[in-house]
Amino acid sequence: MFDMTSLLLGAAISGIGLCLTMLTLVRGDEASRYKITWAIGAGLFVCHVFAYYAFAHGASLPVGALACAVQSVAALCLYVSVRQFTDKSFRPLTTFLSIAVPYVLIVPTIFAAGYDGIALVMQNAVTGTLLLMGAVVYLRILHETPTVIAVISVLYALTGVSFLMCGLVIFLDGQWSIGYPPDNWAEKLNVVISVLAISGAGALTLSLDQARVARKNQLTAMSDPLTGLLNRRGLAFGQSDVFFTDTAIVLFDLDHFKQINDRHGHAVGDLVIRSFADILRLAGRSADRKARLGGEEFAMIMQGVSPPEARGLAEHVSATFAMLDIRNEQGETFRCTVSAGIAFGEAGGAEMEEILARADQALYAAKRDGRNRVVIGKLRVAS
Ligand code: GH3
Ligand code: MG
Ligand code: MG
Repeated sequence: MFDMTSLLLGAAISGIGLCLTMLTLVRGDEASRYKITWAIGAGLFVCHVFAYYAFAHGASLPVGALACAVQSVAALCLYVSVRQFTDKSFRPLTTFLSIAVPYVLIVPTIFAAGYDGIALVMQNAVTGTLLLMGAVVYLRILHETPTVIAVISVLYALTGVSFLMCGLVIFLDGQWSIGYPPDNWAEKLNVVISVLAISGAGALTLSLDQARVARKNQLTAMSDPLTGLLNRRGLAFGQSDVFFTDTAIVLFDLDHFKQINDRHGHAVGDLVIRSFADILRLAGRSADRKARLGGEEFAMIMQGVSPPEARGLAEHVSATFAMLDIRNEQGETFRCTVSAGIAFGEAGGAEMEEILARADQALYAAKRDGRNRVVIGKLRVAS
């Protein structure tokens, strides 16, 4: 239905579009580097198409050898880009050079020496294998967004297989010296699949990237920069709207904190806040939600706890903090205390804001009764 020239022209136009799209979306951060590698791969693929076209229209063997070299290096760039996208610690240069250098030295040389059929079998085998390896690498991050990543992996695998088939057809025909680009069903299928699958995989990778950025922004919006705990917004996020009698909120407020700031300075005040946050982070179970609500006020939500357990945990946090030696800028050590108020949900269910207000009343009672203590609010039974 399509002649090879039209298909190649379509592939080149698609490649230019992909290259420009990726370059436009590059941000200054390290996480964007895969886009540059991907764009280089797409750009090299376009170069391959032009060299291949020239070779098909009477250019000499070295031009064909150039097309041969450029195509597998383009596939290598896509593979390296996949590794960069899936693994932040991946350092691309060694992988790139250890595959590209021997390949470029051997395969185009065989091509230029007149054994273009052998070189094309090798070129298709290397390109197909690299794309299949890309498909496997994607599976490692399948948990991130299973459906999208499974589709990307299948697209890379399909393209890889279509290259392997091109090599297989030449191999089975035993065409070791051809002198012009092969034009068979496998070649045509390969161009169609490459354009469809690589542009599809590129677009889906960009959508995954956007989802990553959105998740990162959400995390930043929900966490407290000084302590790394959740902030007030993060504490409420994903929580059920109603709390029952097995759920407790503990509010902590550092005692006489203003005096600590006045005596030792704001930086030491910050150190005290971080030290308390570290103790709170390690306390209780990993499912407990811990947040800095603002200033020197913290909250912890615990599910599936009894009043004695909640009190025990709050007292453990207070006692650990009270024994901590904090060093000021003059090298002197001092200690601080914290007060806590606890409130529970209700048998008929109560809203978080309501329990927070009751925990605040209990905290006020703890302050009024002399600080450095835990007060538990009255349990409300269903009326
Ligand atoms: P109380 O025992 O009654 O809780 O007394 P307090 O001095 O701790 O209470 P108050 O709420 O009056 O003081 C809180 C102080 O915390 C006032 C504010 O300057 C300080 N503060 C708020 N946010 C920060 C912060 O991020 N870093 C530092 N170093 N200080 C902060
Ligand atoms: Mg306070
Ligand atoms: Mg205070």
